[in-house]
Order: sequence, then structure tokens, then C-alpha cells
Amino acid sequence: MRKNLIIFIDAFPFGSLEGTAFLATLPSRAKIRPGFGYSVNVKAELFGGLKPDAAGYLCEWTYDPDSALRKLQPLFTALRLFSHPYLLDRVVHKIVSKILRQNVFNIPFDRLGHYRKTGCAAYEQTFDKPTLFTEVDGIRMVRYSKYRTDRDNSVFDEAHRVLEAENDYSHIFLSLADLDALMHRQGMNSAAFREKIQALDQQVEKLWSQFRKKHRDAGLIVLSDHGMAPVTDTVSVKLENKFGPSRPDTYMYFIDATILRAWSRDSNLTNSIEQYLTELGHGQVLSQEERKRYGISSARFGDLIFLLDEGVVFIPSFFGKRFPLAMHGYRSELESQAGMLVSSESLTADEFTSTRVFEELRRIVTQELQVGTYA
Ligand SMILES: [Zn+2]
Repeated sequence: MRKNLIIFIDAFPFGSLEGTAFLATLPSRAKIRPGFGYSVNVKAELFGGLKPDAAGYLCEWTYDPDSALRKLQPLFTALRLFSHPYLLDRVVHKIVSKILRQNVFNIPFDRLGHYRKTGCAAYEQTFDKPTLFTEVDGIRMVRYSKYRTDRDNSVFDEAHRVLEAENDYSHIFLSLADLDALMHRQGMNSAAFREKIQALDQQVEKLWSQFRKKHRDAGLIVLSDHGMAPVTDTVSVKLENKFGPSRPDTYMYFIDATILRAWSRDSNLTNSIEQYLTELGHGQVLSQEERKRYGISSARFGDLIFLLDEGVVFIPSFFGKRFPLAMHGYRSELESQAGMLVSSESLTADEFTSTRVFEELRRIVTQELQVGTYA
């Protein structure tokens, strides 16, 4: 059976394939239209065919009236004493993240107990829905999440070691993450970005060369989840100034970099929040049709989901005040948001939605089984 080397590179834009010495020369190339939201959701689409409604979560954190953190709310409320100055607040958030063993980013302490971390990358063992990795036996996973620093290089080193020392795998899967962080920090018009693309291109070529030497019948698949757009504008939203304190009995909200979700049983209040957000002039509240199309219909994801226009970010968001130079999580139809899929094998289309990528990957990694030549 053919063995495939599958390499996932978070945030590698389709447009950046142009000019790569190796990836651009592979026989097949396709554009990926990501689903709604951030990597944590797009990965569930790519590797499990699961839109958020089917995956059961939208974004990494959500409002949840039954959150397990609720019993800690009195403690979090006391920590509000440390919410000024901003740097002290950041330090206290970091300490709380360490104690809870989950990153609480910069979620306001006066409401932290009402939120819950829901998202999980589809290739992690804790992901609880069927994926390519549970359907296909013996995929050797080499994940960045195991490493704290120099993650991508560590992943490539580990993959080389696996190729030298192990034989007991059907395919090898690598997940890489440093490009995404670099683009947020340094933007796409930077030497660091160009060098990183070049380095990844060379590292993939080197690993593929070793893989092909070892396995006579070998395939290569390289893919990403989304692209990136330069950040050109910011919006600051403080709903409390307009609608009073945010509480479970009035309204709750969560601000990601480009998405604001709000929950309220009071539909008049929801309408007023919608009007206020729309009047900011930088984005739209998604209609029910759009929510259905993106697979984000569930009422648990918000009574209202507001998405910013391309290039605009919320500052501050519940992730902090840092200004990113590039961002994703905009409408998936935008060219800037397109991810990529390249392969040594032939592909059935030159453009895929992320859920269709799952079908395509499954077809490629099991194709010998389908034509009955498995030996
Ligand atoms: Zn990102």
C-alpha cells in the first residue's frame, strides 16, 4: 500500500506558493476555501469533514451557563483588583492560565467563570469526533504541540528520526504552527515571512526526499487551513458603556480578533446590540442563511455573530491588546483567506472547500484499498 507523507502548515496562504522552489513544482495544486472561524474549526473541517454545528463548537472559548469554571467566579471577581494597570492584568491572567492549565488569554475576570474552552485541534488525541486519524489505522503523528520552543524545527527533526528508526506506520502526518504566529507578529511584507516560507519549502523537500528513498511507493500531500490578510484598521468595542454591565441575566459576549458573539434572552437587547455593531461600519451580523451555509446555526454559538470586514481587528479583544500585522478569520470567500493543497498525486479539483478536503484526503490515503490492490 502506498505510504503518504502528509504535512499540515498552519496559515500557509495559497498565494505564497508562487515563487517556492519546491512546493510550486509539485504536479497538483489546489486552493482551499476555509470554513468559518479560526484554525481550531477549520482543522475539524479539513480532517473530519465537520463544520462547527457538527463539530459541536465555534472558536476556542464560548459562553456556557454551565461552565465548570463557574464555581471559581468569586475568586476571579476578586482578581479584578489587579486589572489595572494593563501589564499587571496580563501577568495575573498568565498565572491563572498556569494554575488552571488552560490559556485564559485576556478574558475579563468579572465573567471568566461563565466561559468555557471548547475547541480542540482535530489531530489531537482529545478530539472526540471521528477524523481521518481515527478512520485510518496507523498514521504516525508528529505534532508541534509537543514542543514549547522552536516547534517547527523540532517537528522536522522528529520526523527525520521517525523515518530512520520506525517502520510501523501506514502514513506520517506532521503539524506545524510557527508560520501563523510569525505572520501575526511580523506581517507578510517582512523578510522574516519570506525566509520562513523558503525554510519550510526546503524542509519539506528534504523530508520528502528521505521519505521517497525509504518507500518506493510514496505520496506527498502538503496543506494549510487558511491564508492571511494584512491588518489595516482596528475597532474598539465596549458594550458595557452602551448596554450596562455584561451578566448572564442581561447579555454576555465574547470578542475574538475578528468575531464578536453575543448571547441574550432579551431579543430587543440583541437587536440593539446588532444595530450598534452594524453602525460601527466595519462588519456585519451574519444572517440565518449565512449561518446555515457556514454550519454555525446552533444557538449555543451566539444569538448574534458579528464578523469584521477584511483587514479590521478588534483591539482590545479577549486575547489582549496586541496589534497583529496580519489576521485571518474573515469571510472565507476572500482571496486572502485561501489556504493551499499541493500533492505529488493527482487531485480531483483545483479548488476545495475545507470539508471537501477531508473527502479528498481520505480518497488519497485509502486509494489502494478502493481499487483492491492492497497487499
Ligand atoms: Zn492565527
